[in-house]
Amino acid sequence: MILHESADFCDDCLGRALGITAAEARTIVASLAKSSAILRDRWTCKSCRKHALVTRAIPNATFALNRRSRGRLGRLA
Ligand SMILES: [Zn+2]
Repeated sequence: MILHESADFCDDCLGRALGITAAEARTIVASLAKSSAILRDRWTCKSCRKHALVTRAIPNATFALNRRSRGRLGRLA
């Protein structure tokens, strides 16, 4: 998982890390944002230091998502 807690990455760096285009990365984070698991804001990218729209995973929301899927993923944990 590329989205670490308290780490901000711009779409370009997310795409590069995932091996996809920045546009594809933007589509993915846009859908993730609807679940409130991530935060989108203008900030400094932790990877390229560019001030841009970055994506950050929200620890509590991520935790909630993990709890919700624990039963289904329990065997993998
Ligand atoms: Zn970046």
